[in-house]
Amino acid sequence: MGPHNQSNTVDFDAAKLQRLGYARHAQQTLKPVSLAQLRQQLSLQLQTSLEVDRILALFYREVQRLVPLDALVYQLAACDLRFEFGERGNHTAGYRLSHEGEYLGELIFRRGQRFSEEELGRLESLLASLLFPLRNALLYRAAVQSALRDPLTNTGNRLALNQSLQREIDLARRNLQPLSMLMLDIDHFKQINDKHGHAYGDEVLKAVATTLRDQLRNVDLAFRYGGEEFLVLLSGTGREAACMVGERLRHAVQNLQCLNQNQTILVSISLGCATLLPGESADSLLRRADSALYAAKRSGRNRLNMAG
Ligand code: GH3
Ligand code: MG
Ligand code: MG
Repeated sequence: MGPHNQSNTVDFDAAKLQRLGYARHAQQTLKPVSLAQLRQQLSLQLQTSLEVDRILALFYREVQRLVPLDALVYQLAACDLRFEFGERGNHTAGYRLSHEGEYLGELIFRRGQRFSEEELGRLESLLASLLFPLRNALLYRAAVQSALRDPLTNTGNRLALNQSLQREIDLARRNLQPLSMLMLDIDHFKQINDKHGHAYGDEVLKAVATTLRDQLRNVDLAFRYGGEEFLVLLSGTGREAACMVGERLRHAVQNLQCLNQNQTILVSISLGCATLLPGESADSLLRRADSALYAAKRSGRNRLNMAG
């Protein structure tokens, strides 16, 4: 990851660091320090952020005052995290980080030149300063993520939708790209609950959400909009293509093999599809997708209707 771009906004992390006397631009002029000094400085500096990537970037920069590196890689597969700083080198020293039995990821130092025993000892000693800040940043990240997710279906919640929708609209405008929305609702879901129980209804909700994720590209965003209603944002997707995606979703849900005590349960969805109009607001787009969905329900369910 390269240096941050210049911008006009005030960066509080940078401001704090400057007050502490660690301005980013002073990087080259920093004098080498003793291990004890660097450990002390690191523990102050790494407290200035709760962002995993920022903490690692600071660590990568500061560690090099004692041990020159060509690259640093951090990965934590369970959280889908991977950060890489610098260019790769042939020699590596890898550390699995954990705290009280909790796995915090793997850190790999890379360099063209071999690491000496003394250098490895220093790196290990400096790693101790990274442990708590990294753990706090991971906890913070998990908290932010869970605040944006629906726990049952693991799709985005309403808060996440509100954030993403405006951002996607702004991006679509700026990049002159189309943006489409699918609003979908499970048909006769109340009957499924009534016949098979609420817990089984929950399983159907999960199965539908999984189907959505399986069928969509990465950039497509799926949210739980209400009880048995989902919303999909299709960036860079125009009217015809969005309609095709919607039909694909409809077929995939229809083909779900839902069984309860050897009884097959038919699940279907109805969809409303709307494509962003020039100058249209988020609310208006939502309203149009919702009316299209309502029309799909009225005209028989298990179908997609395009907004006018
Ligand atoms: P329609 O085809 O018109 O959409 O009919 P419907 O039965 O799906 O719609 P209705 O709005 O009448 O019922 C939705 C039901 O979804 C009622 C509610 O109890 C149920 N529901 C909402 N959230 C959950 C949930 O988290 N779990 C379960 N199991 N059921 C839920
Ligand atoms: Mg329904
Ligand atoms: Mg509904």
